[in-house]
Amino acid sequence: MNVRVGVLAVQGAFLAHAEVLCDLGVEAVEVRQPNNLEGLDAIVLPGGESTTMSKLLVSTGLWHPLNGLLHGGLPVFGTCAGMILLGTSILDGRPDQSCFGVIDIAVRRNAYGRQIDSFEADIDTAVGQFHGVFIRAPRIEAFGAKVEVLGTHNNEPVIVRQGTALAAAFHPELSADVHLHQFFITHVAGLAPATIDTTAKGR
Ligand code: GLN
Repeated sequence: MNVRVGVLAVQGAFLAHAEVLCDLGVEAVEVRQPNNLEGLDAIVLPGGESTTMSKLLVSTGLWHPLNGLLHGGLPVFGTCAGMILLGTSILDGRPDQSCFGVIDIAVRRNAYGRQIDSFEADIDTAVGQFHGVFIRAPRIEAFGAKVEVLGTHNNEPVIVRQGTALAAAFHPELSADVHLHQFFITHVAGLAPATIDTTAKGR
């Protein structure tokens, strides 16, 4: 099955996500304008700067069609700033920043401190231990009953799922481990790429 997964590419760490997806036998499509959303089986919202992404999503005309697709059930994986975009409320956000509200979480921006306070940690997840790279990471401060916690760090949720939406507070694309992306493609999105080559590029 040819699987097409979009990677929002208006700002942020989209290239590394596209590489991981290619290693998993998935066609990665950079999404910069509304017509790039056509025919996608799923989409990844990368880390970066959620305030800038929010503005660029509006100015490129992507916000409304993407919002419609996400609420219509298009599987989505949001990481770091991407997780902020998927939540229902943003704490310490800018007044003009918005979120899609597909995962019932309240997320505090930059809750672990500044760039210099970025850290790496091993996380216990539903798919085994995963090495997480946290860069000015957001913290999930509250979550609703429909939210499943799939990974924790220091007893705080750092990977969550609600239906076909998955989010991680860290940057899984920066670890040499494709398991979370694989979990997203096969279990959350229910897709089966024709070939899965997890040995590619030494991953
Ligand atoms: N602090 C960033 C924000 O608020 C997120 C950081 C990241 O994505 N690495 O958008």
